Amino acid sequence: MSDCVFCKIAAGEIPANKVYEDDTVLAFRDLDPQAPVHVLLIPKAHIASVAEITPENSGVVAHIFEVAAQIAKELGLENGFRIVNNCGEDGMQSVQHLHFHLLGGKKMGWPPFPAQS
Ligand code: AMP
Repeated sequence: MSDCVFCKIAAGEIPANKVYEDDTVLAFRDLDPQAPVHVLLIPKAHIASVAEITPENSGVVAHIFEVAAQIAKELGLENGFRIVNNCGEDGMQSVQHLHFHLLGGKKMGWPPFPAQS
């Protein structure tokens, strides 16, 4: 996707603070961290969102979670962490390239959203 910022990061056209990279997955620090550790994990191939995951492309999602577990260990998140995905308009997804937020280094709150009637 030529206008996708995460495709550009995956292609090396935009710089990112990378913490992990292989042939299919990239992990890099979020520009606007919401926790002491805030890493984004993406497939290098463009998938727009969780809503676009299919039997044909879901293998990379399993791999992303393997990488997340590895990164969490490497970044010292032995006490736990949170993985977040925002999907679509109601999910407040702002970048239309599948990504998972790995957040840690502090005690999280729950529920993660304000109560509404
Ligand atoms: P979401 O709202 O779930 O779509 O999350 C998108 C995330 O991407 C936000 O947390 C942004 O801070 C982050 N972000 C956007 N552009 C960049 C970038 N060039 N490098 C690192 N993180 C970015």
